[in-house]
Amino acid sequence: MTNTTTTTVATSTTSTTAAAGATAAAGTTSTTGARTVAAYAAPAPKAPLEKTVITRRALGEHDILIDVRYAGICHSDIHQVGEDWGDGIFPMVPGHEIAGVVAETGPGVTRWAVGDRVGVGCFVDSCRECDNCRAGLQNYCTGTPGAVFTYNGVGRDGEPTYGGYSAQLVVDEGYALRIPDELELDVAAPLLCAGITLYSPLTHWGAGPGKKVAIVGLGGLGHMGVKIARAKGAEVTVLSQSLRKREDGLRLGGHHYRATSDPATFTELAGTFDLIVNTVSADLDLSAYLGLLKTDGTLVQVGAPEKPVSVNAHALLTGRKSLAGSMIGGLPETQEMLDFCAAHGIGAEIELISADRINEAYERVLASDVRYRFVIDASTI
Ligand code: NAP
Ligand code: ZN
Repeated sequence: MTNTTTTTVATSTTSTTAAAGATAAAGTTSTTGARTVAAYAAPAPKAPLEKTVITRRALGEHDILIDVRYAGICHSDIHQVGEDWGDGIFPMVPGHEIAGVVAETGPGVTRWAVGDRVGVGCFVDSCRECDNCRAGLQNYCTGTPGAVFTYNGVGRDGEPTYGGYSAQLVVDEGYALRIPDELELDVAAPLLCAGITLYSPLTHWGAGPGKKVAIVGLGGLGHMGVKIARAKGAEVTVLSQSLRKREDGLRLGGHHYRATSDPATFTELAGTFDLIVNTVSADLDLSAYLGLLKTDGTLVQVGAPEKPVSVNAHALLTGRKSLAGSMIGGLPETQEMLDFCAAHGIGAEIELISADRINEAYERVLASDVRYRFVIDASTI
C-alpha cells in the first residue's frame, strides 16, 4: 500500500470522528497522531457508497495500524447500509472481512511487528471481563457495552467505528488475527466473517465423518460452509435455489447438490440430515427444512433476514429437532479456523473488484449473482 501516513501535520484538532466529505486529504497526521484515511462510505441509509476521508485515532499503547490490502463484501454490509436490522450510524464505512499488514505498532504492543499479515473480523473490542470474553467467546460478550462491531458500532472512546472499506485501520492488538503464510491475503479476507460464521457451527454441532450436513444457500457464507464441512469429513449436500450453480457446488466440495425450487427435494431428502446450516439472507420456510432433518437433528440459522423467522411447532416436535442460531465466532476459534483453512488449502472463491465497483457489487449480491465473494482491492480506495 502506498498511501501510508506521511509526516504532514494537519492544523486540526483532536477530533477522531469520521468526516464523510471532509476536505482534509487522506494521508495526513494531526499533532495528536490521528490520521486521515481514504475510505468508501454510505452517507445515508440505502445511499450508494462514495469515496470519502475518515479519521483514524492516534495509536494507543496497545493499538496497531493496519494497511488494509483487501476487504470482503458481506451481505451483512448491505443489510446494515439498508438499515434492515435497525438504525445505523452514518456515514457508514462497512467492511468486516479485512486482511492487511501491520504498518505501525503502539509502544506497548507485544503480539505484532511491522510487516505481520493480519486479519480483522466483525468486532474490534469487547468488555474482556464477562464469562464469555474470558472463555474466548468475545462475539457473545455480555458485558457493557458488549462486542464492539468493526463498523456501525461505538468504541471505548465514544466514537463510531468505521470498517474495512478503507486504506488503513487502527485496532487493539488483541483483536487482530494472524493470517498464515499459506493463505493469500485476498482469499483470506472473507474467512474473517464468512469463514468463521460457518466454521463455528460446523464445529459446535460436530460436522465430521459419518455426519450428513446440508448447507442452504451457495453464496459467500454457503460456499465456505461447503468447503469447511467437506474438509471436516462430513457428507455434504448443497441446497441451492436452482441447478444453476450445480457444477460449482460439487467442485467446491459438495457430494450432492439439490435445487430447493424442486418440491421433490423436500420429499426425497426428508429425514436425511444430522445438521443443516441455513445461510440464506431472505425468509425461508424453515418448517420445510426441519423436515429434512433426522431425529435429533439440528437446523442452525446463520442467515440474518430482516423479518422474524417462524416455524410450525409440529416440525420441531416430530423427531425432537432443534432450531439454533450462531453468530460469527470468538477470537481463539477464529484463529483456529484460519489455521484449519491454511492446513486444508481453503480460501474463498473471490471476484476481486476496484472500490469504484462497490455499488455494482451490492446489486449483484442482492441478485444472488456472486461467485462467491466480492473482495475490494484496497489499493484502489
Ligand atoms: P450472499 O452471498 O448473498 O448469499 C446468500 C445466498 O442465499 C444466495 O447466494 C442465495 O444462494 C441464497 N438466497 C438469497 N436470496 C434467497 C431467496 N430469496 N430465497 C432462497 N435463497 C436465497 O450472502 P452472505 O454474505 O453469504 O450472507 C448470508 C446471510 O448471512 C445474510 O443475511 C448475512 O447478513 C448473514 N450473516 C450472518 C452472520 C452470522 O454471524 N450469523 C455472519 C455473516 C453474515 P442460492 O442462489 O444458492 O440459493
Ligand atoms: Zn459478514
